[in-house]
Formats: sequence, C-alpha cells, structure tokens
Amino acid sequence: MISSKEYLARKITALLRLTGTIGVARSLLAGQGAIFLLHEVQENPAAHLSTALPTGVLDWMLGWLRREGWDIISLSEAVERLCQGECSARRFAVFTFDDGYKDNFINALPIMEKHNAPFTIYVPTQAISRELYSWWLGLRELFLKNDIVDLSSMGRRFECSTLAEKTLALQCASDWVNQDYSRANELNKDFLVYNLSAAEINEKYFLSKNLLRKISKHPLVTIGGHTTSHVALSCLDTAAALKEIRDNKQYLQSLLDTPVDHFAYPYGVARACSLRDAELVASAGYKSAVTARFFAVPNRVVNMHFLPRIEPPNDIDHSALDGRASGIFPFLAKVARSIGLMEQYIEIDPRRCPPTPGSTVENAVIVGEPPLPAEPGDPEDAAHRAPAGARIAPISGTSAEARFFTTSEDATFMAQGAHSTHAEPLRDVDA
Ligand SMILES: [Zn+2]
Repeated sequence: MISSKEYLARKITALLRLTGTIGVARSLLAGQGAIFLLHEVQENPAAHLSTALPTGVLDWMLGWLRREGWDIISLSEAVERLCQGECSARRFAVFTFDDGYKDNFINALPIMEKHNAPFTIYVPTQAISRELYSWWLGLRELFLKNDIVDLSSMGRRFECSTLAEKTLALQCASDWVNQDYSRANELNKDFLVYNLSAAEINEKYFLSKNLLRKISKHPLVTIGGHTTSHVALSCLDTAAALKEIRDNKQYLQSLLDTPVDHFAYPYGVARACSLRDAELVASAGYKSAVTARFFAVPNRVVNMHFLPRIEPPNDIDHSALDGRASGIFPFLAKVARSIGLMEQYIEIDPRRCPPTPGSTVENAVIVGEPPLPAEPGDPEDAAHRAPAGARIAPISGTSAEARFFTTSEDATFMAQGAHSTHAEPLRDVDA
C-alpha cells in the first residue's frame, strides 16, 4: 500500500520517463549521486511486518542503477569524489546498511557480490555485545507473538490478529516513539510484562562478533560507526554525545583491527542529530557521516559530516526508484510545500538562537531540510533563514533544539509532533 502522495509522485516520474524528459529532470535535480539507506534485507518481509527491504527489490535496484548509468561505488570513493569538488559526468550510487543485521551477511551479501557492488554497514557497539535496547525489534516481536497487545506506556490496547493489523499496529507504536525518542524508555515496562528478552532478540537479529569480523574482511564491505547504544544524539549533552561516538569507533577499530572512517547518525532525522553532532563526529576523526535526510547529494559543496541519504522503495517500480534517485520526489515535495500542499519543515540552529519559547527567529539559520544545511560562510546562507516573525517552541520541553512546521509565510507554527494527535498548536505569545 502506498500513500496518495507517493502514488502521484510516481505518476509524474512515469510521465517524465514516458516523454523522454527524465534526462533533463536528472541533470537539474539528481546532483552528484545518491546514498541509499537500508536496514534489514529479507526474502519475505511481510512475515516480519514489512520492516525490511525484500531481497528481490535489492537485486532489481542494483541492476536498474547499472543499466541507467549510475556508478555503484564505495562510500570512501564517493567521499573522495566529493572532496575533489569536481562533478563527475556519471552519478554515483552508494549502498549503506544501518544497525548491523545478521541478514546483511546472509541475504544482502550474495546479492551485492552478484552485482560487484561495494557497501557499508554501520554498527552500534551494543548490537554486537547484545546489550542494545532495540525497542523497535522488541515492538515487532510483541506484535508478531500476540494478537492483543497492551502498551500501558502509550495508554493503548492493540487488537491485531492478521499480519496487516500487526503491521499497522507496529507502525503506529513506532511512530509514537519516533516523535519523541525519550518515549523508548517508557516502553521498557511493557517489555517486562511480556517477558521480552533484549539479549535474545539481539542474538536473533544482529551480527555476532565472528560474523562481523568475517564480513569486515570482505573486499566489498566497509564497517562504519553508529554510536555505542544507538541513542538519538540530540537527546545528549555534548560530552555524552562525543563519548557515544568515540567509544564506538574505538570498539570497532580494536575488534576489527582496521580504521573506522565513516559514521551514521542513529535515526538520522532532524530530530535526532544536528550540526553540533556533525562537528563532534569530525572531531572524533570520522571522514564522513550520513543522516536520514532524504535528498540526492547536491552539486554544490556539501558538508561531509552531514550527508543526505535516500530510502529505496519497497517494491519493484521504475518510477519509484527513479523519482528518488533522480531527486524528483524531494523536488515535488518542495513544490508542494511552497504552494501550501505540504507542511514546511524548518530547523533552527540553537547556538545562534536559543530555543526560548516565544522568542523570534528573525536571524536564526535553518540547519535542517529543506534545503540542505548551509556550510558556514556559504553564500546561499541568507536563503536559508527562517521567515521573519517565526516563533520558537521547545520539543517536549527537554530538547536543546527547536524545530517547526510552518504552513504559510505569516507562519502558523506547530511543534514537531504536528503529525501526531498529541501535538498542540503553539500559543500566540502576544495574546
Ligand atoms: Zn540505526
């Protein structure tokens, strides 16, 4: 099932393909390349509530990208190309897998080998040590094993006996946590009631030490850092965030006896990481870091420690993949926002504009999407400013950052939970 927005975007891309204008669209929008964000890869994702990419889609994607002229290269080679600053005539595609799932070895590796496609796996320390609080897998296990699930943390009962109902319930509970990562800890009391063992789940789904060592030696594979505990770095103060980044790098380097040069932010969305963390990752010695901000890598100079990625579609559809890889979907979303069909997302740099409720952000610099984060001194910086009169509300009262949706120029702002039923419109402070 795809959303109506996805359906429309696919149709527009299909039209561009049909009329032969897709090349023009790519030259304008596809930038230098695409970094794909993947997690689990399974033969039959439906049986695991559709949280993985089907093996058939991965196989098809790699073939499609090669046929359409993308260079499938390693992250290191992409970073080198970006550092040289000269746009290659051919666009690149980079494959990255987050979290260190066992199926990356069992299911993905043979497909990547078939296409001779390099890839990076980002591994949090505690996935390997089996201490990870993998709440997303815990939720999935709950819904897979039970037809009635009481989540006291959410104050909700889910009655779900079919796979479709279980999939929907999992999405609903996951969205609830993703709106505020501090809620993940609240779920723990429900996991205890259902006798869920994090160690068992981790053992079942994540690479073991031996498998990680083995796959790290494969010529197509690069291992990257993903923090110690897979925490949203935005939830931590600077010292704690830096410790998460550094300790994980040291752990992987000593386990694998090789430098670990690339990093992925846990969750990767604007709510989970910011330019502060990009500075921390750079100071820890990483050469690159990837987010979950869904854009192609643009032609202009990019922040190597805040690279965008693209989520692949879950089904075999030329327009769905082309629309993403060629930058058409993000462009359509931008157009939809500018004419008020979609909420516009704005993020404020808290160092320049402290998140005090009611203060204005006339001179605050937007660091989120859209557009991509500005480099310091970037001449485009001015275009990234929040509209005058925008007001600030802290997220959950604890976040160090402030982020907003605006629906019009004169700015009706809502806190980030605007997608949830829990969100409340921001009070007009002058009232
Ligand atoms: Zn992750």
